Amino acid sequence: MNKSSADIRRAFQTFFAERGHEIVPSSSLVPANDPTLLFTNAGMVPFKDVFLGREHRPYQRAVSSQRCVRAGGKHNDLENVGFTARHHTFFEMLGNFSFGDYFKRDAIQYAWAFLTETLELPAERLWVTVYEEDDEAAAIWLDEVGVDPSRFSRIGAADNFWSMGDTGPCGPCSEIFYDHGPEVPGGPPGTPEEDGDRYVEIWNLVFMQYDRGANGALTPLPKPSIDTGMGLERIAAVVQGVTNNFDIDLFRNLVDAAARLAGTDDRQGSSLRVIADHIRACAFLVVDGVLPSNEGRGYVLRRIIRRAVRHGYKLGIEEPFFWKLVEPLIEEMGDAYPELPANRALVERVLSQEEVRFRETLEQGLRLLAEDLEHLSGDTVPGETVFKLYDTYGFPVDLTADVAREQGLHLDMAGFEEAMTSQRERARAASVFRAEYGGAADFGGTTIFSGYDVTEDAAQVIGLYRD
Ligand code: ATP
Ligand code: MG
Ligand code: MG
Ligand code: MG
Repeated sequence: MNKSSADIRRAFQTFFAERGHEIVPSSSLVPANDPTLLFTNAGMVPFKDVFLGREHRPYQRAVSSQRCVRAGGKHNDLENVGFTARHHTFFEMLGNFSFGDYFKRDAIQYAWAFLTETLELPAERLWVTVYEEDDEAAAIWLDEVGVDPSRFSRIGAADNFWSMGDTGPCGPCSEIFYDHGPEVPGGPPGTPEEDGDRYVEIWNLVFMQYDRGANGALTPLPKPSIDTGMGLERIAAVVQGVTNNFDIDLFRNLVDAAARLAGTDDRQGSSLRVIADHIRACAFLVVDGVLPSNEGRGYVLRRIIRRAVRHGYKLGIEEPFFWKLVEPLIEEMGDAYPELPANRALVERVLSQEEVRFRETLEQGLRLLAEDLEHLSGDTVPGETVFKLYDTYGFPVDLTADVAREQGLHLDMAGFEEAMTSQRERARAASVFRAEYGGAADFGGTTIFSGYDVTEDAAQVIGLYRD
């Protein structure tokens, strides 16, 4: 069977609609009424208040294909993109939800039926994990579904116990993996080799059954609920018989479009993949009202755009190109997300403006970095260099880290923090000087890149990079 990503999305929604689930359209990437969360990073986010019992909907079962971003914030997969076969900054999460209606047994049976009957995946390729103490889920999988015990494992809380926060709804998970076969490096879940791409986690079932109190104690919820999430791109790779998400229909076309702009036939390098990944995140963030800026969500967007632009530059693309990928993206995703074509002009303008602006300093910055690296003795890029690139040339720290990683180097973050702190002190002194004497201040020889606010809180910048 060869289904397109769009076919799989539709098949998932139909499967659950036939089983009494309301089809709920994807919400915005900017969570409504939740300043604590940078971006919508899972299918359950728009239903958070429903799970908490604060909001009531006219249905108890829902199915969605939710657009998600995992860059910055609690889940940050930015550094993985282009390096693993399965991580994106932007992806779609297919999910079915029960708000106090069905629980473990049905959630497990539905998932298994969708994978093995609707998608016709061979059972012997699937691997299942449960939380180590969850005997109930283990019995359903082993005795009722009939999963082979040799492809079943119990996992600790780090991976298989989910909670919404320090307190509130929580519960064990069960994850379903697909085995891409021995040609792909990697080991089964729960082993030290699991970080490879052989066994790919495709679906995570969360059994919300406890309420965690302030003292840490777990009380059973009166109406346990279900939250599941399956990455559309990962399941599409499985169904389409490819071992890398970037080889699915949707990404192949985006990678091809980027390759045409770069005038290259080589599809294997990570730059094209990074660009194909980043155009989706950037376009959808703009559609959802985020604009490049120096803080918060806007700074995450800026970081992703600049990263993509740097990869384009590396491929030898001399003109602003990133905005030109909006059209091929609309071809792939415009039907499922009409808000994308509706905002086409805005998205193209924002992306091209940001690229034009960054290109003014990109080349010089890269040259400075290359010169500094020539004199490097160890494998650490000095904090001063990282800071100068950030401050004068508009290089987000993770972009510099990305360049450094290509050469097997890492960054001196403590040195960067120090440079940032002394810059702030100089700026403060200069503004006192300015207030006292009027006139232009001398910043001790440091040129201030106009795109940055020198008083920007160093902790915030570093926090954005590290989280
Ligand atoms: P992984 O362990 O592979 O990083 P995860 O456990 O962090 O995945 P969940 O939070 O359980 O992922 O999200 C539910 C599902 O969403 C995953 O099973 C996977 O199919 C998909 N998914 C998660 N992160 C990404 C990502 N960065 N890109 C694409 N799909 C993802
Ligand atoms: Mg993850
Ligand atoms: Mg996982
Ligand atoms: Mg998971």
